[in-house]
Amino acid sequence: MRIGHGYDVHRFAENRALILGGVTIPYELGLLGHSDADVLSHAISDALLGALSLGDIGQHFPDNDDRYKDADSIKLLQEVCRLIEEKGYKIVNIDSTILCQKPKLKNFIVEMRKRLSDAMNIDIEDVSVKATTEEGLGFTGEGLGIAVHAVCLLEKY
Ligand code: MG
Repeated sequence: MRIGHGYDVHRFAENRALILGGVTIPYELGLLGHSDADVLSHAISDALLGALSLGDIGQHFPDNDDRYKDADSIKLLQEVCRLIEEKGYKIVNIDSTILCQKPKLKNFIVEMRKRLSDAMNIDIEDVSVKATTEEGLGFTGEGLGIAVHAVCLLEKY
């Protein structure tokens, strides 16, 4: 078995969509990034890559490569899953925590889990997504951006 950890941050910006785990969340601000800036999918992708010491998504999908401009991060996650499978591993489970002051994400959690588990071709029960505020503290607390921690467990086929 192999364990992996991923962490990512994106800052809020105007005129951008807010996409988390492949789900578009209605909000006045979105996240800034070269891709669609889906910080949850990025953190999970990094956890999966990290579990097999395969680097990070920045190496696999460089942000100066036009192919990944506004890229759908769910597709990048699927690419990562293909790599994991090629190496002979399957996902046991994923756990993630979104650090976000606003907007409230409670009503979108199940949809995110569904979208992510579909993308990774695993059971929704094996994908945990949690959200918390940081009590107004730090950059997430001030509403400047969103951070996500993710961990995964892989096992050899
Ligand atoms: Mg990112």
